[in-house]
Order: sequence, then C-alpha cells, then structure tokens
Amino acid sequence: MSNSTTVFVTGAGSGIGRATATLLADRGYAVAGFDRNGAAVTEFADEINSRGGRALAWEGDVTDTAAVASAVDQTVAHWGHLTGAVACAGIEVVGGVLDLDFEDWQRSLSVNASGVFNLAKGALPHLITSRGSFVAIASDAGTEGAQGYAAYCAAKHAVVGLVKSMALDHGVQGVRSNVVCPSFVETPMATRIFDSTAPGEAEFYRDVIPMGRFALPDEVAKAVAHLLGPDSSFTNGMLYAIDGGGTAGFYRPA
Ligand code: NAD
Repeated sequence: MSNSTTVFVTGAGSGIGRATATLLADRGYAVAGFDRNGAAVTEFADEINSRGGRALAWEGDVTDTAAVASAVDQTVAHWGHLTGAVACAGIEVVGGVLDLDFEDWQRSLSVNASGVFNLAKGALPHLITSRGSFVAIASDAGTEGAQGYAAYCAAKHAVVGLVKSMALDHGVQGVRSNVVCPSFVETPMATRIFDSTAPGEAEFYRDVIPMGRFALPDEVAKAVAHLLGPDSSFTNGMLYAIDGGGTAGFYRPA
C-alpha cells in the first residue's frame, strides 16, 4: 500500500466503522476516524499509533455539516490529500410508522442519510483532486423493505439513491462511489436491537440467512477495503451485499 493513501471514516469508534478503520490502518492507510463518541475514536487512534500506524481522531456529529467539513479539511491539511471516505456512522431506529414519532423519523433521516450527505459534501472536492473512492454503509434495508424498521429502512434507501447518483455525477471526474449493504452484523448496534426487541428476533433473522449466521464486522471491513482500493478500479455505483445470501431470493430454512 502506498504511503500516500489516506482515508476518512465516520463511526470509527465502534462496530463496523472501528473494524474498517483498523483494517485499513493495518493495511497501510493513514486513517482519520470521526465519531460523536470522542473517547472511543481516540482509543482507536491511540491503538493504531501505538503500533506504528497513522491515525487521527476527530470528535463530532455527522449531522453537523460544518463539523464534518472542518474535520475533513484538517485531515487533508495534516496529510496533504484524501484518497478515500467511508460513511459508516449510523443509528438504529426500531419501529413501524405507528410506533414512531416524527422526531424518530427525523433522527433516522438526519443521522443515517444526511450524515452520509455531509461526508460526501465535505470529501468530494478532495476526492475529485485525488481521483479517490467513496463508500457508504447502507444495509439490506437499503434495497428491500424492513418490517418494523420503517424510518431506518427509508434512510438506508436514501443512502443507496445518493451513492448511485454520486457515481453518475462524479465518475467522469475519476471518483468511484459505492455502497455496502450488510444484513445483521455482530456489533453493539445489533446487540442493542436484540436486547430491546421480542425474544426470538435474533434467531429469526439468523435463520433466514442461507449461511445460517450473522456477519462479522471484519467481513464488512474487507468489502469496504476492496471498494476503496485498486482491485475495484472500474466498480462505480455498485451495491455490494454482505449478507450470506440473505437478499439472493426467498429462502426457506430447513
Ligand atoms: P455501532 O453502534 O456499533 O457503531 C456506530 C458508531 O457510529 C458509534 O461509534 C457511534 O458513536 C457512531 N455514531 C452514531 N451516530 C453518530 C453521529 N450522529 N455522528 C457521529 N458518529 C455517530 O453500529 P454498527 O453496527 O457498527 O453500524 C455501523 C453502520 O452499519 C451503521 O450505518 C448501520 O446502520 C450499518 N449497519 C449495521 C448493521 C448491523 O447489524 N450492525 C447491519 C447493516 C448496516
């Protein structure tokens, strides 16, 4: 990996974002982590720097357009350029329309969709300069309806539309934009969901995956790394499912 490869990762304090930021740092990227949990993202950066890698930590909220842009700009000032951006920060918002307040709806759209827009807005000028790569984490709920997750599902569909449109708008400038769509992944978010929903929910979602298990954060991280790097040099506007075959078709468990 070239020493001149730098990437900005939102949500780097936990789960998929943390696994992705760590994998990229271990593969030689300079990684700037951004998270509203300042202690967690600082812990990530300290861990990477203590073993000889290169990491920066920014505390901030992805719904704050100026804060995201400022952290991206300071990262570029520090390392000279930006070749990748990964929008991973997100929140769970569980419930159908009748369970949700308008505030729940707005919170999901704001973090899960507008947060991705804010990173795109802040990073694109730099990615155009470097002919870089943008990756967003959506979900299988970004391509299919999700029973009991109306606001989350709507936000993830927005992310898919945003990234596809970026692929069309900025491919000509050499920027590739792609979206990773995992089914349930073993992270603190999934634990919180299954701790707060009806007994049997985790088993139900596991059993409808042909491979019979949830994804590991590192499996999503490897897909992101592929989409950031040169092995995907003609991949633009693609949805990359990391779901053990869960969206391949109607699956009837044995
Ligand atoms: P997680 O809760 O373990 O980590 C999310 C991180 O994002 C946390 O560090 C949190 O502090 C940060 N974050 C949340 N809101 C933020 C904000 N407004 N500003 C800045 N940082 C913020 O969750 P995860 O499971 O790793 O999820 C990461 C992404 O993957 C999310 O977009 C999620 O929707 C998506 N996803 C998760 C699963 C799953 O089953 N875990 C499945 C599909 C998609």
